Amino acid sequence: MVQSVAHPVAVVGGGPAGLMAAEVLATAGMNVTVFERMASVGRKLLLAGRGGLNLTHSEPPEAFLARYGPARSALTASIEAFGPDDLQAWCAGLGQQPFVGSSGRVFPAGFRATPLLRSWLARLDALGVERRVRHTWQGWGDAPGQLRFLDAEGSEVSVHADAVVLALGGASWPRVGSDGAWVDPLRAEGIAVAPLRPANMGFAVGWTRTFADRFAGTPLKNVRLSFAELSVRGDAMITATGIEGGAVYGLSAALRDGLERGEPVAVVVDLRPDLGVDELADRFRRGRAKESRATLLRRAGLAPVAVGLLREVTRNDLPADPWALAGLVKAASLALVAPQSLDRAISTAGGVDFDELDERLMIRRRPGTFVAGEMLDWEAPTGGYLLQATFSTARTAANGVLDWLA
Ligand SMILES: Cc1cc2nc3c(=O)[nH]c(=O)nc-3n(C[C@H](O)[C@H](O)[C@H](O)COP(=O)(O)OP(=O)(O)OC[C@H]3O[C@@H](n4cnc5c(N)ncnc54)[C@H](O)[C@@H]3O)c2cc1C
Repeated sequence: MVQSVAHPVAVVGGGPAGLMAAEVLATAGMNVTVFERMASVGRKLLLAGRGGLNLTHSEPPEAFLARYGPARSALTASIEAFGPDDLQAWCAGLGQQPFVGSSGRVFPAGFRATPLLRSWLARLDALGVERRVRHTWQGWGDAPGQLRFLDAEGSEVSVHADAVVLALGGASWPRVGSDGAWVDPLRAEGIAVAPLRPANMGFAVGWTRTFADRFAGTPLKNVRLSFAELSVRGDAMITATGIEGGAVYGLSAALRDGLERGEPVAVVVDLRPDLGVDELADRFRRGRAKESRATLLRRAGLAPVAVGLLREVTRNDLPADPWALAGLVKAASLALVAPQSLDRAISTAGGVDFDELDERLMIRRRPGTFVAGEMLDWEAPTGGYLLQATFSTARTAANGVLDWLA
């Protein structure tokens, strides 16, 4: 009879990727310890839950996989093995019945991450997963299977594991844990890591003081933003320094890449996507002669912030001609200055190069070490694609560990 062995396995990073890997490994009988640098696990997951935890998306597989752009081929096997339906079943298994919102996005009951994480940790406790918090991974030791950590007192702690899953996240919102400090120890081993860059972030705009003072914190509701051949409908938020929000995030990778190439980048804003330019021009033409342009715009359903934006992009010189005014409402060109920094981005682009990994997500140069989640080199828009790829790659990595140890 083949005896199964409870190998000591270290999972480094207690985010959704690390916890999912721990669940798979502990379910298979491994002796799992999760090491986490913060005082508790899952802090970014809880942060994500504040705006409504969008677990995954219900769109057809082909459209779903296309969201990963160039990383699609590297992620397909993981997402096919543990896809949106599996993730919803897993969520239901934790007592958080998921539901599909009107946009096709999938959320746990009540939109919240807290009850989900609570029952998940109870499940991991029952499986015997040990959590060692305030342990910051420093890199590998000299002996095979040796990992180096700093504990809360700053003392070095050495740990032996038969296999390791690194799930250290990206570098956005570092105050909830992931700071990208893992890049140096990996590069020191000769492992290629694409530079960490902001993804799903806002952009700086050179607002006038008057506009920023009046409209910072005001949403631009139901607009269409376009850039090159891309177009996204949704809301955007005016901030003191620029623009952010769902519709902006949808274009953010292409906008960021354009700015990084040193190109002038302008996003085209359609402030009335439900009205055609002819219809708008007709309304403006029929407006009473004595009405100001601002009144005409408000009568056409534009909120004060939208009118303010048109004044801003025309340097307060709104065209008098109805056709020109209608054209401006449908396609106001807003020049962007720079992407927001990684600190406030929703996610991170860049990470461990897939060429460094085998199909089980094991680092070829470090047999027995696997990588999962946002620290891998992929990016995707918001909509549940981030957590789906995080969970799916975690399961691939954990199954890879089991395969390798066997
Ligand atoms: C505001 C916000 C809202 C979001 N909303 C959504 C959403 O609704 N839907 C969605 O799909 N995605 C969302 N995301 C993205 C999603 O939260 C991440 O993609 C996901 O958390 C990545 O999981 P991960 O486990 O790979 O990394 P993380 O969640 O970042 O976890 C990594 C863990 O590793 C720990 N760690 C890092 N370095 C070390 C070290 N050296 N030693 C020990 N531990 C370390 C960190 O403290 C952290 O706990 C949101 C993100 C933000 C910031």
